[in-house]
Amino acid sequence: MTQASADIASEGFTIALKALERIRGLGAVPDPPTFEVWFTYFKGHNRDLNRELDAIAPDSLSPARVQAIHHRHFATSRHLEQFLTVGQALGSETRKVKTVIEVASGSAADYGISLQSAAQMLGDSIPAMSFSELVGSLVRSTSAVQQTNALLQVQLKQSEEQFRLLQENMETLRIESMTDPLTRLANRKYFDFSLMQSVAKADDHDSAAPLSLAMVDIDHFKRFNDLYGHTTGDDVLRLVAVTLKNNVRTSDLVARYGGDEFAVLLPSARLEDAMAIGDQIRRAIAERPLLRRTTKESLGHVTLSIGVAMRAPGESAELLVERADRHLYEAKANGRNCLVGQPVEGA
Ligand code: GH3
Ligand code: MG
Repeated sequence: MTQASADIASEGFTIALKALERIRGLGAVPDPPTFEVWFTYFKGHNRDLNRELDAIAPDSLSPARVQAIHHRHFATSRHLEQFLTVGQALGSETRKVKTVIEVASGSAADYGISLQSAAQMLGDSIPAMSFSELVGSLVRSTSAVQQTNALLQVQLKQSEEQFRLLQENMETLRIESMTDPLTRLANRKYFDFSLMQSVAKADDHDSAAPLSLAMVDIDHFKRFNDLYGHTTGDDVLRLVAVTLKNNVRTSDLVARYGGDEFAVLLPSARLEDAMAIGDQIRRAIAERPLLRRTTKESLGHVTLSIGVAMRAPGESAELLVERADRHLYEAKANGRNCLVGQPVEGA
């Protein structure tokens, strides 16, 4: 264990003890959901959860209420995780069924062929009619089995087709549940899920691989909408989405974080690399003259403000987002159309 992971473990024990103390104080049972709620509370990285718990008087924190809070804050992302694995399970089941069909139909055909050749051999060498008749009848019944089998094979093929369609529907549903309909980027839910996974992966492997995050926001976008209309505003959101995608690697994740704000997760990019990519995106948008799609009327330019942060060892997903967001607001305060990757001097 490195010094950094030893520190994280010791911090974990302190938080766990506080959580248990609080549970005992409330006269509740330390079951996993209750423990998770209070552990997260004392860890302090889920601000929404802390705000909600702080607003409730201790004597109103019944076990049922804490369970409901747990469901609201933790169950959704787990459902998504389960949903993502169901599609894969269905796929492997389909492949298994297909293999069974192939093996079954193949072996029935082999059986028929071997009986038929046996009948021929017997027919050639043994003159006794009754025996040859017997084998002949065996061949006839084998052929009947084969016919039934062929029918079964057709039916199984149909089932396989149904499975395939079902799998396709699942895949469509899976993609839609993770996609923002306007920009076709990953949505906020999927972004939160991926960020959590990337952070957990880095912690599990005690990894030194960097993880950077850029938060991107369109400047004065409300004004743009007011001037040119929401539909043209939607086109600008799509343009920003495509520009973001075109400037990052396929292993990076571009998401619509909400409204006119986007998030770009850059695994294995150090702060300076992420800042260079962010600035490339900022320039691409600022230099792009905008034309109304229908009339080709010139609409000037839009600009972006960007905040970038690289994850510190052991840092939670929430804190990383918070730091990148803080840099974004510093970029806004600096006059917009700029990028901040380090705290502004003197701030
Ligand atoms: P700032 O430079 O401080 O970011 O100013 P702003 O006007 O961009 O910020 P503000 O948060 O006040 O406004 C964001 C605007 O984004 C408000 C809303 O009109 C616009 N917006 C959010 N979602 C959509 C959308 O789906 N389509 C369009 N066209 N506009 C959207
Ligand atoms: Mg904005």
